[in-house]
Amino acid sequence: MTRSVSFHTLGCRLNQAETAAITRSFEGRDFDVVATDTDADIVVVNTCTVTENGDADTRRLVNRINRRNPGARIALIGCQAQVQAATLRQMPNVSWVVGNARKMALADIVESAAAADRPFVDTSEIPTESFTSPTAAVDYRHARANLKIQDGCDFYCFFCVIPYTRGHARSRQFDDLLREAADLVEAGHREIVLTGVNIGTYEDGSKAFLDVVDALIAQPGLDRLRISSIEPTTIPAGLFGPMAAGTALCRHLHIPLQSGSDEVLYQMNRRYSISQYREFVELACQSVPDLCLGTDVIVGYPGESDAHFDQTVELLRHLPLTYFHVFSYSERQRAKSRLFADQVERPTIAARSRVLRELSNRKRQLFLERFSGREVTVLFEQEKRERWTGLTDNYIRVSVASERDLTNRLLPVRLEGSDDGSCMTGVLL
Ligand code: SF4
Repeated sequence: MTRSVSFHTLGCRLNQAETAAITRSFEGRDFDVVATDTDADIVVVNTCTVTENGDADTRRLVNRINRRNPGARIALIGCQAQVQAATLRQMPNVSWVVGNARKMALADIVESAAAADRPFVDTSEIPTESFTSPTAAVDYRHARANLKIQDGCDFYCFFCVIPYTRGHARSRQFDDLLREAADLVEAGHREIVLTGVNIGTYEDGSKAFLDVVDALIAQPGLDRLRISSIEPTTIPAGLFGPMAAGTALCRHLHIPLQSGSDEVLYQMNRRYSISQYREFVELACQSVPDLCLGTDVIVGYPGESDAHFDQTVELLRHLPLTYFHVFSYSERQRAKSRLFADQVERPTIAARSRVLRELSNRKRQLFLERFSGREVTVLFEQEKRERWTGLTDNYIRVSVASERDLTNRLLPVRLEGSDDGSCMTGVLL
């Protein structure tokens, strides 16, 4: 009997890449893949546990699925499943809990382990070898496709649970990722975003991260290659040349800072100093005109005093960053920082987050203003309220009026201005 199956993704871009590949692996079998908001016989949730919000999102989503569609059998997979299987298996109508080691084989598991009274649980140990991924992560809903090149991490930052949820750093076999990139282009994707946990540590035999980039920007038919988040200290300066030269490599970097205080960075077990970070960011901006530079910051890390936070604000104010993602610190099981004294009060964390979010909004607005009146190229993705939106290579969201279908079109636009600080309006040329 054919069963319908829908997919939800919580968390990061890597989860999105994996959900897309898992979705494709259900096709061509006795399953009918349906849209996320359609009531399905089986609902798959690719979970996140990087913050306590990720855990809460799973709870909320499972409750919502059970309210809307009480007959559904639920599969909880991924990071939270790997480390919190005992909790997840108690949730109503959960029939499968599958961690990161085996989640890519979910279609086989669901086929062979039918929903029973007791949930099927698999939290096998995560392998350490290089890997392949046989199913291309074609994403029919988005112009951009995510390409997973790496998994796991050996850095063990003290706040982070990821080395426990995703295991040791391991890389995808070079030929295998090139094959998927060709498949994604063949399926119509014009932009590929490289994803992984710590992609700058990519290593497969003699191939390193820069080899991946060089090979992909030479991929026929690929218009854009974007690098997602990449750790400071792992970024080869050899990226700047192709970015500045107008190749397919997008002028966009997202480099997590986490704190503007050397003392806090040390307490986080981060691997760089503020001066190293500053020098690198300044070199990047000098080398690549109009580079968009984003970062992540954690507020309220144990021991973060007002003085530490002020240092973070000052640094962020002066660095040539375009935007920051602000995360409120939350204790993660197994992460070392949960043992630290000096936990910061919740209201203080909320107030600090507000300060940084406002600063980020102002910096983004200033970045956008620089482009008023300039001509850019936009890869259009979708239509909303009679406006088409898409991105420039340097991550400016642009909206234009058009009666034509612009899906997946790469078109020149003259930028006008920004009404809300997050998107620029423009006219098609
Ligand atoms: S580099 Fe640090 S923050 Fe990033 S995944 Fe590894 S341990 Fe976590």
